[in-house]
Amino acid sequence: MGILVENIILTQRIIAKAPGLLHMRYKLTEIAEKLDINPRTIADWTNAGLPHERDERGHIWIIGTEFASWVEEKRLARKNRNSHQKLSDNQVYCLRCNKPVLPKNLQIITGNGKQIYIKGNCPKCGCSVNRGGRNND
Ligand SMILES: [Zn+2]
Repeated sequence: MGILVENIILTQRIIAKAPGLLHMRYKLTEIAEKLDINPRTIADWTNAGLPHERDERGHIWIIGTEFASWVEEKRLARKNRNSHQKLSDNQVYCLRCNKPVLPKNLQIITGNGKQIYIKGNCPKCGCSVNRGGRNND
C-alpha cells in the first residue's frame, strides 16, 4: 500500500509555495502546475495521507489550504526528528505526542560521573517519558 512518510520529499519551493494555495478545490494537475511538481508525485502523496477527494470519475481534488497544512505538518515532523537530540534542559521527547515536552513529576536521577537520567510524565498525554543525559555543571 502507501509509501513511507520518510520518502516524501518536500523541496524548499513546495514549502514556500504551499501557503499561497487558496481554500478551494484544485484539480491534482492544477496543484502540480502551481507548485511546479510532477502530478504523479502528488498522486503518490494522496496514498501517503495527503487529504484529497475523488470524484465519481476517479479524478483527484485537493483543497489548497488542506494541502498547505499537510505540508506544514510533514515539515514540522521532520524538523522535530532532526532536533530530537537537541532538547533543551529538562525537555524530554514524548514518543506518543511525537514532540519534545516539559514533563510533569520530573525526576532527575544522577548516575556515575556526569550521567543523569531524567524521567516524568508527558503533560499532554500523561504517558511516561524519559531520557538519559549529561550533567554539564
Ligand atoms: Zn505525550
